[in-house]
Amino acid sequence: GAMQGLVKHPFSDELDLSLRKVDPALPIPVETVTEVVDRIMAGRLGGQAPLAQEQPVGELGHRPVKKVLIHARGCTAVKLVRKALEAELEVVLVQSDPDMDSVPADMVRQAGAAGTVVPIGGNTSDESYLNALSILNIAEAQQVDALHPGIGFLSETPNFAALVRQKGINFIGPKVMSMETMGNKSNAISTTMSINVPVVPGSHGIIDSSEKALEIAERVGYPILLKAVHGGGGKGIVKVERPEHLHQLFHQVTAEAKSAFGNGDIYIEKCVTSLRHIEAQILRDQFGHTRVIGLRDCSVQRNNQKLLEESGSTLLSEQLRSEVLACAEKIATAVDYIGAGTVEFIYDVPSDAIYFMEMNTRLQVEHPVTEAVTGIDIVKQQFLIASGESIEHLTADEKGYALEVRVNAERCVIDGDGEVTFMPTPGKITKYRLPEQDDVELISMVDEGKTVSPFYDSLIIQIIIHGENRLDAIDRMRRYLEAVVIEGISTNISLVKRILSDETFRQGDYDTTYLPKFLNRIDVPALIAEIDEASGSRADVVDLDSLRIEGSQELRVLSPSTGVFYRTPSPSEPEYVNVGSEVEVDEVLCVLEAMKMFAPFRLTSCAGAGGALYPAGQRYRINRINVSNGQQVNEGDLLFVIEPMAAAPIAAL
Ligand code: ADP
Ligand code: ADP
Ligand code: MG
Repeated sequence: GAMQGLVKHPFSDELDLSLRKVDPALPIPVETVTEVVDRIMAGRLGGQAPLAQEQPVGELGHRPVKKVLIHARGCTAVKLVRKALEAELEVVLVQSDPDMDSVPADMVRQAGAAGTVVPIGGNTSDESYLNALSILNIAEAQQVDALHPGIGFLSETPNFAALVRQKGINFIGPKVMSMETMGNKSNAISTTMSINVPVVPGSHGIIDSSEKALEIAERVGYPILLKAVHGGGGKGIVKVERPEHLHQLFHQVTAEAKSAFGNGDIYIEKCVTSLRHIEAQILRDQFGHTRVIGLRDCSVQRNNQKLLEESGSTLLSEQLRSEVLACAEKIATAVDYIGAGTVEFIYDVPSDAIYFMEMNTRLQVEHPVTEAVTGIDIVKQQFLIASGESIEHLTADEKGYALEVRVNAERCVIDGDGEVTFMPTPGKITKYRLPEQDDVELISMVDEGKTVSPFYDSLIIQIIIHGENRLDAIDRMRRYLEAVVIEGISTNISLVKRILSDETFRQGDYDTTYLPKFLNRIDVPALIAEIDEASGSRADVVDLDSLRIEGSQELRVLSPSTGVFYRTPSPSEPEYVNVGSEVEVDEVLCVLEAMKMFAPFRLTSCAGAGGALYPAGQRYRINRINVSNGQQVNEGDLLFVIEPMAAAPIAAL
């Protein structure tokens, strides 16, 4: 967004041009401050994207890749660094401050002369990986000939691809035009419809008023979804159950999309009530050779995010399977796609039909399951295609079955409404054992002694297993997970083990509602206890006495986890508490943010051996607040000093 936020210099007409002489790639702003204000007041947040047009048409800069900048962190960086070094490429890895001693950074340093780690500073993604101009400057200074944009961050930002190519650097990805067509979901739907690929019934275009929305919803039938044209990551999708809710939700989603994605355009889709998430892996070269090398099923999801991925789908008939493959190929050709990409489909179970959902114009986290069954090295193919090579000879035969588990640093909690949710648990890994095995691919961003930072998402390890068939792969994965030890932080491995033993999952007869339903029917407190035990956390070491400040009635309040400390619900609101405030044990004192999740912190959030640590039924005064707003805290850091109110009998403590 920052690149589009530039405005003309308010006082000097020549300054921008003079700067351009210093750095020819500097984007030239096209709007004045007044024009930007007028545009935003008129409700058009997106603005025009002047940069993309500067890319010479057809100029992809394909040439042999020798020195590549890897713009990724975590598991993606591990995989890309591994593959680039295998291909004997020189590697430049950019890492934020907290990532400077990460596993991928170590891998690059160990490569000696073949590798350089360059710090980009900053903690959050906004301050680091999303700083496009800083990435570009490093690419130039390091004289790389290619840039791999990884997954997420700027990998699907057409302007970034355009700028990289403008600098004469080979952007490992598709044409800007393909990214633009597929990045806008409404454009993507019109494009796919025009080549007769089935799409979900709906408006098939942007809706500009709630009256119009009502009309279309009536025709499509409730429930419907309102979807943001530029939504992603499971966000910007809202379900409408009945006509009387439509007007209000329409305006709400428009406003939310405007602020989250910079564009408030929305469209309508029928809500498919029972679906499986099916996707097709594409490779395509600049000569127009298209290969759809495999299907994946990613129906085990929570909050529209994938947890387990499979190299095939159990419910899809042979006929629908061929239809998915054919549609994916048609789409790749229609947008003149180049490189590796994925077309996502909805398999509507009750209607036994498939619909186009969206296309991701980049590598996906779950690509290794397809590699495992086809033997095709997808990342290597990305490098080859970007080097200008042909994939004409490439054929894909599937052997066996593969399964991927996403190991997240998180624990299960039951929230105030009795719902099971997941809270990220960053922190230091104290014990780590993941056996190496022939049928297993490990993509791990952690190791003993490494710290999982609170600034990024919670995915820490991808485990991919290959078996003879689905059940064999499931059993191998189950046995493998028995041998895994990760202590110091909580992970979802205990949950995954239960899923792998679950009859419904093993039979393969389920849809995207599987995981929430599963959580409703299992013994969640037992699962939570198992997760705590696996993490090696010993809750019994803390008791109230150890928190008492000697010679006083004062008690320490320690942070239960690593995170960023905030004293207010949002920047414009007042503090939850101040020095001198008096609180009950269930009042919110602050919020702790980790991995993009905000967790309200109360005295009840601290648990000891016998359950609650601070006795309820009395008030506490805040005597000291030890951390400032926005500061990072580690597990066990002192947050507050409190004192039980005088009325409380001291014996109760
Ligand atoms: P910094 O954040 O590095 O302090 P400033 O924007 O304050 O940068 O600029 C540093 C100095 O550069 C100023 O104190 C001033 O002397 C000079 N400077 C900055 N902008 C202008 C300008 N538009 N015209 C003349 N001098 C300027
Ligand atoms: P994103 O860009 O966030 O990945 P998608 O369009 O791929 O958005 O949708 C994400 C998830 O939302 C899907 O995997 C599916 O579970 C659900 N979903 C999307 N469209 C529909 C629909 N029409 N009906 C029901 N669920 C849907
Ligand atoms: Mg998607």
